[in-house]
Formats: sequence, C-alpha cells, structure tokens
Amino acid sequence: MSYDKENIFAKILRGEIPCDKIYEDEYALAFKDIRPQAPSHALIIPKGAYVDINDFSKNATNEEVVGFNRAISMVADKLGISEDSGGNGYRVIANSGNDAHQEVPHLHFHLLAGRPLGPMVYPIKSES
Ligand code: AMP
Repeated sequence: MSYDKENIFAKILRGEIPCDKIYEDEYALAFKDIRPQAPSHALIIPKGAYVDINDFSKNATNEEVVGFNRAISMVADKLGISEDSGGNGYRVIANSGNDAHQEVPHLHFHLLAGRPLGPMVYPIKSES
C-alpha cells in the first residue's frame, strides 16, 4: 500500500491540523486520541511516512526504529501510566490492515491505560 500524504496524521505532522500534544522528538510525535477508549489514550506516530507497523518494520532505518520505540517509555513515564512512573501499567496496540480495523494509514501505537483493560482480544461468538 502506498503512503497517502493527505491522511490525517500526516496533516498533524505538517501542523495543518491541531493535536493535543503530549511529547515530541526527532523521531516521534505523541498526542491524545480524540475518541479515547480508556481514561488515558495516547497515540504515538513516527515522523517518517510509514503506512503501518509492517511498512515501518520493513523499511524504516535502524535509527528510526530505535528512536520511535524509545518514545514509548518517554510518553508512558510522562503520562504517569508506566509502573516505573507510579502508574498501573498500559497496553500498546498497533493495528495493521483490514482485519485489525486500521483506520488511519500512518503508523500509530495506541497507549491505553487508567483502568483494567480486560482480555487482549475479545472473542467473537462464532469462535467461542
Ligand atoms: P486505528 O483504528 O488503529 O487506525 O486508530 C485510529 C485512531 O485515531 C482512532 O482511535 C481515532 O480516534 C484516532 N484519531 C483520528 N483522528 C484523530 C485526530 N485528529 N486526533 C487524534 N486522534 C485521532
């Protein structure tokens, strides 16, 4: 899948639309999700143009991969959701493609916290 430069997170990176910023460095930008699914719901996106985790894992430079992943703990500590920072822990989710219901085609990690988050994946009835 080719990268769509007009996706909403590309516009946020270019400063064309606002975000509720949590953290920013050379490799990553983190901001609050507009439709939070937990008391704390942050998104972390790489600065580079990558569609999803598959694209990033395959094509990003080692420096980008390391830099982006380092941002996770920076954000979690800043939000106070990591156990290191006195929180109760958090879940990281990266949706990729149709079955995972990825909506925005720029890689993003969801960081969810602030309540017990339940099972990692809810079984659908026909599978249970
Ligand atoms: P996904 O389904 O993994 O692609 O998740 C996309 C996420 O982006 C959803 O949780 C949306 O609520 C969130 N989202 C969409 N537009 C914005 C925006 N302008 N600012 C912050 N979060 C957004």
